[in-house]
Amino acid sequence: MRILITGGAGFIGSNLAKFHLNKNDDVIVVDNLITGKKKNIEKILNHPNFKFIEKDIISFRFEEIPPVDVIYHLASPASPPYFKKLAIEILMVNSVGTKNVLDYVKRSKSKRFVFSSSSEVYGDPKIHPQPESYWGNVNPNGYRSCYDEAKRFGESLIMSYVRTFGLDCRIVRVFNTYGPYMDPKDGRVVSSFINQAIGNQPITVYGSGNQTRSFCFVDDMVQGIHLAGNTSGLSGKVMNIGNPTEFTVLEIAKKIKELTKSSSKIIFRSIPPDDPKRRKPVIKVAKKLLGWEPKISLDEGLKKTIQYYQNL
Ligand code: UDP
Repeated sequence: MRILITGGAGFIGSNLAKFHLNKNDDVIVVDNLITGKKKNIEKILNHPNFKFIEKDIISFRFEEIPPVDVIYHLASPASPPYFKKLAIEILMVNSVGTKNVLDYVKRSKSKRFVFSSSSEVYGDPKIHPQPESYWGNVNPNGYRSCYDEAKRFGESLIMSYVRTFGLDCRIVRVFNTYGPYMDPKDGRVVSSFINQAIGNQPITVYGSGNQTRSFCFVDDMVQGIHLAGNTSGLSGKVMNIGNPTEFTVLEIAKKIKELTKSSSKIIFRSIPPDDPKRRKPVIKVAKKLLGWEPKISLDEGLKKTIQYYQNL
């Protein structure tokens, strides 16, 4: 099979690229490295089945690439600290960039297209846990809106290409994910807490720490995204992919402190605006359509992630 991954030098994309190379597939990555890292793909750069194209997908002429079997469209900064620094880039890549990729899918008759949407389409949810049928509670012009609305626009554009041109597109709503190759400096909760803990620096909990998230280990996420691209009969389907085991942020801080045997203090800082209070996916759709559910517990995944950061 030939696979194209936009954003394939990012955290999830680089794990997905390695997964497909291990299956003997040809993998092409297009990434402008705005948040992706060459380091994430350095071990596969010279692999005979791997090709890296350092280009922005907004202007890249995808015609250079022969038709592929599956396109995973992952290109987008995703960590909340970037919502301030890269707001316009996030809006553009998910709208104009997504259109550019969809037009390539249409012209090249590539087979399947998977869009990585996000649990952020639910905003600060009023329904808990969140099924795909929930339309969300999003501040349309707040600090997180560049990401939330960009992903919502992306979903709308994709469904319009499905309805207008009959393209075979699938949408996965990616919930919080962690694991090796997550940028230690991207400011996300798991990467920040582990690196603070192993450096014996204060662990910075935002707000009271009572807000919740449900964390999926990256290997489970990759398996789910891969199945979304490789199962037939799913055009136009929208699927939550995530681990439904819910924890408070304070629980995560304590767990990481314990697992790293750290002497770090847990300190409290102000919470960013519109930070969702609770988040947990309903994964019935993915279970039914993909036969998928996560297998790796938080403890097991955290141990692997801690080891990865300790070896960096
Ligand atoms: N958070 C925290 N300390 C940090 C980074 C994040 O307490 O150093 C909190 C953040 O406010 C949010 C949760 O952890 O409630 C998850 O944040 P993250 O940025 O990882 O992802 P989000 O789910 O908000 O997109």
